[in-house]
Amino acid sequence: MNQPDVIIAGAGPVGLVAANLLADEGASVLLLEAEDKLPTNLRASTFQSSTLDMIERFGVNERLIEQGVVSPRMQYRDRSGWFTEFDFASLKNDTNHPFRLQCEQYKLCELLLRRLESRSNAQVLFSARAETACQSESQVKLKTFVTGEEREISGKWLIAADGGKSTVRASVGIKLEGFTWPERYLVASTKFDFESAIPGISTVSYFADPEEWYFLLRVPGMWRVMFPIGENENDEILLSDADINRRLQRVFTKTGTYDIQHRTIYSVHQRVASKYRVGRVFLAGDAAHLNNPLGGMGMNGGIHDAFSIAERLAAVVKGKSSSSILDGYEAERRPVALEYVDKISTANKRNLETKDPTARQAWRETMERTAADPELARQYLLKVSMIESLRKYKQAA
Ligand SMILES: Cc1cc2nc3c(=O)[nH]c(=O)nc-3n(C[C@H](O)[C@H](O)[C@H](O)COP(=O)(O)OP(=O)(O)OC[C@H]3O[C@@H](n4cnc5c(N)ncnc54)[C@H](O)[C@@H]3O)c2cc1C
Repeated sequence: MNQPDVIIAGAGPVGLVAANLLADEGASVLLLEAEDKLPTNLRASTFQSSTLDMIERFGVNERLIEQGVVSPRMQYRDRSGWFTEFDFASLKNDTNHPFRLQCEQYKLCELLLRRLESRSNAQVLFSARAETACQSESQVKLKTFVTGEEREISGKWLIAADGGKSTVRASVGIKLEGFTWPERYLVASTKFDFESAIPGISTVSYFADPEEWYFLLRVPGMWRVMFPIGENENDEILLSDADINRRLQRVFTKTGTYDIQHRTIYSVHQRVASKYRVGRVFLAGDAAHLNNPLGGMGMNGGIHDAFSIAERLAAVVKGKSSSSILDGYEAERRPVALEYVDKISTANKRNLETKDPTARQAWRETMERTAADPELARQYLLKVSMIESLRKYKQAA
């Protein structure tokens, strides 16, 4: 494709959402993906109501919902048996999707890729690694390695959706400010049926504990369990059947061992890019912000970024708006990452892990009071479903 309107680096959920929206609006789009096919590693699995409402325009929701688990409720629990529950039905007048959808992010990517490939104004290149961007007043030039061969690709605008280690972000000199938590997280998946074992458990349940908090969520065919792990623990031991079984037996003590279908360890960050834009280059998704996964906000926030920047670029490319509307992107989305996602995900972590009995009791009482009052419960769910942040920070596009 010669001089596309928009080049997008990275075919994760954020790059694919932006590419689909731009192509639908008539912009020419070139999407570059470093891998030779869509990555299918297990990462995000929570789709918030706000995101489902937004991606409805692509006509993929029915298929996505069929491939996922609809969670109408979420619970906070602890190991004593205490729990409090929120019902997403409180949002029935606020969203077309008053639930959380548990579905692996690659399933959305596959649906969006298929859709994009049917567009004549879009091209997807695999094994195409974006390296460095440089720009003039009228275009961006991107040094790229396509199946190992260096190629310079130019376009009018560039969206860096190339993930947390974004090379494009580094090449335009933007810093990802913040910190990395000292502990890492372990995620294990098992087919064991926690719903039968723990009566009344919802398919999204967060367990507070001063020694070892965890969360349990159901995805199609299995449950995923996430635990924090210490700084100096050995990966080989942590990933062994024996060690994972030891942790799972503390979640629910059963005879025999747990089947472990999948296991992974990952580092956790709270970081936000110092800027979301340098000239013709925009950062979106993990390239712009990283947060701990408690609350399921990383991918969702990234998809919200993709809508904001793609709508703005489409309007500029099609001559419907002047380029000044592009300034609204950072003004709209960076405060959400800083004042919203970062704060909520950090508070979620602190509430689950606190060792202070007074703080733990205060949190339990707040959750109970909030869940018991219909309007407080609705306000709370508007926040965690990321509907409130869209309403609050929306800038005119
Ligand atoms: C275990 C785990 C659980 C999570 N759970 C949730 C959750 O429940 N809800 C939630 O909202 N978020 C969750 N997240 C976070 C979520 O996965 C990320 O926020 C999301 O993947 C970000 O999407 P993205 O498209 O910005 O980046 P990515 O998904 O990282 O996609 C980037 C893409 O760019 C490609 N790429 C990389 N470098 C280049 C390059 N130089 N050139 C071209 N292509 C490149 C990569 O191969 C990849 O395909 C979780 C993360 C983890 C690790």
